[in-house]
Amino acid sequence: MSQSSALKYLEENHARIQNELIELLRIPSISHDPAHKVDMGKAAHWLANKLRAMGVNNVEILPTAGHSVVYGEWLSGGTSAPTVLIYGHYDVQSPEPLEDWKSQPFEPDIRNNNLYARGSSDMKGQTLAAVNAVEAIIKTEDLPLNIKFLIEGEEEIGSKHLNEFLVAHREKLKCDFSLNADAGGMPDAETPTICYSLRGGASFILNIFGPNQDLHSGEYGGVIQNPIHVLSKLIADLHDKHGHVTLLGFYDKVRKIDAEEHAEMARLPFDETFLLKHSGAPALWGEPEFIPAERIGARPTVEVVMFTAGQPKSAIPAKASARFACRLVPDQDANEIHQQSRASHCEMGARTGWRWSRYYY
Ligand SMILES: [Zn+2]
Repeated sequence: MSQSSALKYLEENHARIQNELIELLRIPSISHDPAHKVDMGKAAHWLANKLRAMGVNNVEILPTAGHSVVYGEWLSGGTSAPTVLIYGHYDVQSPEPLEDWKSQPFEPDIRNNNLYARGSSDMKGQTLAAVNAVEAIIKTEDLPLNIKFLIEGEEEIGSKHLNEFLVAHREKLKCDFSLNADAGGMPDAETPTICYSLRGGASFILNIFGPNQDLHSGEYGGVIQNPIHVLSKLIADLHDKHGHVTLLGFYDKVRKIDAEEHAEMARLPFDETFLLKHSGAPALWGEPEFIPAERIGARPTVEVVMFTAGQPKSAIPAKASARFACRLVPDQDANEIHQQSRASHCEMGARTGWRWSRYYY
């Protein structure tokens, strides 16, 4: 059977493929740190060489205003075959805090059948899984597809130059659909997974300004409202007791989940047991009328992901800040959500003096 020949190839080449991954993981391609510029180039070259060695054509390292994109194509599927663009990224986050690592972040270590290194799961592992899957098939079978690879080096810094790159290379990158191996992951080792959509993101920073400067709490405590308290109240009121977001209009454009989609999501293993086990949290939380898979897949959310205010001294701080991160679903618009947030917090703002600034989305 044709399927088994590619799988057999992967089994026979397992040791080599694993060593390749280890080689790539050893390159500290930290995109945000200029000290690793050379490593970024090394990782790009490593991937370009890998693609060439497995028979991918027209492999190029294409410059952007930042880190380069590795491109390659395998168009032997024929002109009538659909073309898939496979996306990956070779950059990683910096590994701090180092004391949380049991092994060195750039010295891959295998423990309990898992490979630990910075970038092993985001996403050098997935990138090479996709690359090697293509290798296995083109070496052993007829692949009824054309493949293009786009592997960028700036995902961890917001894909700053990718839009520009896509526009500039529109013709070269033309495809019928794309596969992003960075998305979703697999729920477990036994469940093959294709993630067909992800929620979008919008982030805002809210600054609450109170007095002009920090004030001694002995002199002013009792007459000046504390920005930390104001912001905490606002954060506490972001959700009602059932976990619904209270921003006015937040759910207006959210699509209803139809019965078929609900049934599909109910088949996913993301149930309470799974989520408790993997999160280590003591209990689940959130909208009770939706199953967990819907709450993490099809419902929009607002989270406060950072809260900065105050110092260890007896003072009422001048300012408190929080970073809000929204997960948005189809038809929601980041600018609209931003406006809704402003409107919802107007009343509180009018009393305290405030600034709500958009950070990025
Ligand atoms: Zn990633």
